Amino acid sequence: MPRHAGRTTPGRSRTNRIWNRSLQLGEAIDTKKNWTRRRELIGPLLGATTTCDLVAANRAVTMDVGAPSLGLVRPTVTRVELLPGKDWSRTQLTKVERAAQGDLFTPPLNQLKPVPHRIRYHYHCESPSCDNGHKQEVLDWEVGSSGHAWQKIYGDLTGQKVLEKWESMVADTKDTYFFIGNQHQYRQSFSVLGVWWPKKT
Ligand SMILES: [Zn+2]
Repeated sequence: MPRHAGRTTPGRSRTNRIWNRSLQLGEAIDTKKNWTRRRELIGPLLGATTTCDLVAANRAVTMDVGAPSLGLVRPTVTRVELLPGKDWSRTQLTKVERAAQGDLFTPPLNQLKPVPHRIRYHYHCESPSCDNGHKQEVLDWEVGSSGHAWQKIYGDLTGQKVLEKWESMVADTKDTYFFIGNQHQYRQSFSVLGVWWPKKT
């Protein structure tokens, strides 16, 4: 486990500041045997909360008080939406340009391109009072990298292929959960950070 500097962000007890130089690459935990090893690691978290409960917990407290910012929720998906990518904002562009320039110690890099497509899930969580459901964008980097990489293979059909991939993760044959998390500034607003999608057994 990486060490951290021992400070947390106010109101976010689960957000630690990473001490980059202490990070060490460990073993990759694969998805063989229907995600058995991953299930051993996070099994108890599967479905331990709901999106409605997480939103309510964050709504109930002021910014200086801690509230859960992450969860692994079971969705019933009603729609998978393909959205166009967005250009960088002025602030993002400045950061991207600065990162690409390099400095005395690092060579220049190819400038990061904005993602060409975005995915948004519409779903109900397991809360009995989840009447209106939730609409959340997928922030997984793989959405963007697929959109770029598949362009060479699929051309104009790339968006459709990205949509099909994220639809396949919530197919009836999959035991799907969403890793969801919020942002410090908008604590009631959660996004999908990743998808857990082994086969149903
Ligand atoms: Zn809900």
